[in-house]
Amino acid sequence: MTARDWDAEIDRWTERFREIADPPEPFATALREGWTPEARQTLIDEASTYAEHTEGLLAQITSAGWDLVRFDAKFGSCGTCEKYVGRAYSLTGEHPELPSPPPLPICPACRHTLNLLTPFFLQSTGRDIDDLAAESVPFDERDR
Ligand SMILES: [Zn+2]
Repeated sequence: MTARDWDAEIDRWTERFREIADPPEPFATALREGWTPEARQTLIDEASTYAEHTEGLLAQITSAGWDLVRFDAKFGSCGTCEKYVGRAYSLTGEHPELPSPPPLPICPACRHTLNLLTPFFLQSTGRDIDDLAAESVPFDERDR
């Protein structure tokens, strides 16, 4: 896994959030007042820590033999990341009907999670893999 260039991502997302209604913080402030070096560094630290943490968590899930996850938005979503919320993904390719998950965080502002989708839970919702596949949303490389 290659390290992400957070400076470049922040520049890219700052431009993108100009076009989106209600941009998330800290982008909303930066769009009004410009980036301060402190605000930028804080975001880089938080986003990279979050990316590492998520990567560790997913490594644990896959090494335990699990594959199915659901993209959740406990802390909200920006307009770009919103379309992935509630969708199912296959971590290891064990379920080829489903796409592999988006990189987390997708944008540097959002803090989504990929939560284990156990067969038991899936059954309790009255749905199956085909249902999940029918409404799946593969990661769009333009959201990178
Ligand atoms: Zn987002």
